[in-house]
Amino acid sequence: MTPLPARRAETLRDLEAIGFENSFVRELPADPVSVNVPRQVANACYTRVTPTPVAAPRLLAWSDDLASYLGMKRPSGHAVEILAGNRVLPGMEPYAARYGGHQFGHWAGQLGDGRAITLAEMIAIDGSRQELQLKGAGLTPYSRTADGRAVLRSSLREFLCSEAMSWLGVPTTRALSLTATGEPVIRDMFYDGNPRPEPGAIVCRVAPSFVRFGNFQIFMANQENENLKKLADYVIRHHFASMSYVEWFHEVCRRTGALMADWMRLGFVHGVMNTDNLSILGLTIDYGPYGWLEGYDPMWTPNTTDAQGRRYRYGNQPYIAQWNLARLAEALMPLIPEVAALEEGLKLYVDTFQASWQRALAQKLGFAASSADDELVKQMFEALAEAETDFTIFFRSLAKVPLEGTEKEVLAAVSPAFYSEGERPKLVAWLRAYVERVRQEGVALHTRVERMNAANPKYVFRNYLAVQAIDAIEGGDASVLERLMKVLARPYDEQPAHDDLAARRPEWARHKAGCSALSCSS
Ligand code: AMP
Ligand code: MG
Repeated sequence: MTPLPARRAETLRDLEAIGFENSFVRELPADPVSVNVPRQVANACYTRVTPTPVAAPRLLAWSDDLASYLGMKRPSGHAVEILAGNRVLPGMEPYAARYGGHQFGHWAGQLGDGRAITLAEMIAIDGSRQELQLKGAGLTPYSRTADGRAVLRSSLREFLCSEAMSWLGVPTTRALSLTATGEPVIRDMFYDGNPRPEPGAIVCRVAPSFVRFGNFQIFMANQENENLKKLADYVIRHHFASMSYVEWFHEVCRRTGALMADWMRLGFVHGVMNTDNLSILGLTIDYGPYGWLEGYDPMWTPNTTDAQGRRYRYGNQPYIAQWNLARLAEALMPLIPEVAALEEGLKLYVDTFQASWQRALAQKLGFAASSADDELVKQMFEALAEAETDFTIFFRSLAKVPLEGTEKEVLAAVSPAFYSEGERPKLVAWLRAYVERVRQEGVALHTRVERMNAANPKYVFRNYLAVQAIDAIEGGDASVLERLMKVLARPYDEQPAHDDLAARRPEWARHKAGCSALSCSS
């Protein structure tokens, strides 16, 4: 979704005045059983469910940007109840989707929307179909042993990061609203046997579709080939116009490759790349224990639950996406029996990722070419790993390196990225080579700086910034979140009044819970 110019306020519609559609529910097989208790579901793409009402809904945050794209007015009073699941409007046919997945490399069986409930679809101002989905809306047949709810801290993280990702230009599900439920949710945040009540919240997520790789896998696991075909046909009909199964799989591979290049270029670590958390549309989906690289480290993961194996570490993401695509390919075999066509898709994934990553690196370094020199890139990453160096700040300040400066001046230009003192011989040598390479290219300074600033964001939603926004909102103050929303809406622009939000992670945050690493508890 590219942001469109905001609709004029007077043409925005009330939530109540929107004509809703329900193609997923109408065109796909429903669970014949309707009891809403956790259970195994067979022979269905989804179960009809109704959100469980909450005590006291209060709108905490709203994305004007997404709302204008949807042509929707900020709700007030009674309308907020809709965003909390307390009111289901006529025309809405809410459902929870059935899916399975591989979690941390192991088949986990049925998962499904255990706390997400899609209310309905609507048509955005560009004519595209968008689902409105409440996350944290109560129990569904897919809730397993959990409560169907979400806490405010993880909901704020999902709300703001969805929007920040979109503003960075990365394909993602989006978030329209963050609503407090007025009800406590019990969570053991550190998984240390100390559960405590926390404020609950609901995010209204928006995407053309929330279908994941796992929606197809569940059919393979249960040998429901007819349902597999129905879901694939539905997804192609609505999102991959007139493609064959093979063309569609290839396109999913390409989109996933491009997405991984986006995550890698920005230093984004998803944290839980299970097959149920990969979107069939190539969107970033399910914001949990994610993080943004601070000190560059390919081994880093923000997810403490994955601290041992580090399966979902920064440097492993491109490989994991390919592993997940291979699982999707297996699930699609009843539709695509030609193994060679599936293998070709996996190769397309690699090619797309490589080409996009090379292009991204060239842009980050300010080169005109569509790929950077391999040797220069290799040495750069070695130099970044030499001593703790902030990924985002390093690339952003690289544009400021004086081409005619002394070695000291060159190093000083990137020093805001340094977390530690001391000699950096590899970096000094690399900067010398880099400056030489830039000189050779002879591009005008302002062209290079513009190119680099468009590829290297100044502002990313660092975990410690999230913690500050969460602490404030839990104390009743939404201003920290609102300021972040304003600044993150223009991540590639200089915003001198907000330089503090582009700073290195402060030392107090290094080991504070949630500021760097965090658990899956949400
Ligand atoms: P996630 O790790 O968020 O991708 O979730 C994995 C699975 O657990 C999905 O099926 C979720 O719907 C389900 N799940 C996570 N948290 C809850 C919860 N509080 N209540 C019900 N289901 C949940
Ligand atoms: Mg998930």
